[in-house]
Amino acid sequence: MERHLAVEKLVTRVSDEGLERKYYRFRRARWYGGIVTADCVGCGLLCRFCWVSDYALCRPATAGAFYTAESVAEEMRQIARESGLRQLRLSGGEPTLGKEHLLRLLELLEDKGYSFILETNGIPLAYDEDYAPQLSKRSFVHVRVSLKGCSENEFAMLTGAKPEGFILQLKALEKLVENGVSCHPSVMASFSTWDNLQALAERLAEISPELAENLEVEELILYPHVKEKIAKHGLRYHTGYHPDKVPTE
Ligand code: SF4
Repeated sequence: MERHLAVEKLVTRVSDEGLERKYYRFRRARWYGGIVTADCVGCGLLCRFCWVSDYALCRPATAGAFYTAESVAEEMRQIARESGLRQLRLSGGEPTLGKEHLLRLLELLEDKGYSFILETNGIPLAYDEDYAPQLSKRSFVHVRVSLKGCSENEFAMLTGAKPEGFILQLKALEKLVENGVSCHPSVMASFSTWDNLQALAERLAEISPELAENLEVEELILYPHVKEKIAKHGLRYHTGYHPDKVPTE
């Protein structure tokens, strides 16, 4: 969380129009059957399989540009108009950095007939007691908490962060459930054994049976820069897909 807070200082700034946040891309993406996506700059983790370019991930002070919540909403609405898509998504980087900016953006996009997916590693949601209650006010939002491995050890291996950080990811799900926020966990399972995946499902079921039932298994997409990073860290994976051959499901 310390690193998230340090990165947050680099990717947000206060202007007369409120809190601005850095983004590096607005696009129509193929996931979820087609979804308008805004990609934020900056994350507190440094996952060793992260598909974000090293430039956007590791140089938050120079990558991307600052946007007001109003300008992000307009960019997303415009792509939605042009593409006919009604699903919107924030991805990253970590979109929950710059809470005031995110909450304003959600306020601007609510009640316009969109559904909204917030993809997060969850850590800021566990740290800030007020975050999940605020998200619960926006019923068009669904939160996808992307777990970095199935256990503390896998989390440390995949992120380089302290193993106990994994608990924060689970705690985020707990807070979302407690506050009635629509959510589900996904897990990067390409490096995991079946036993570890089962053990994770059991831990999730202790929070809520629905979390275990809705656990999404995420697998590597082997973009060239992702393969390089994984090789650099000496990680061995069990499954992964060529970017052009990702199964629809
Ligand atoms: S949490 Fe997501 S954005 Fe952040 S480093 Fe990991 S994979 Fe990349």
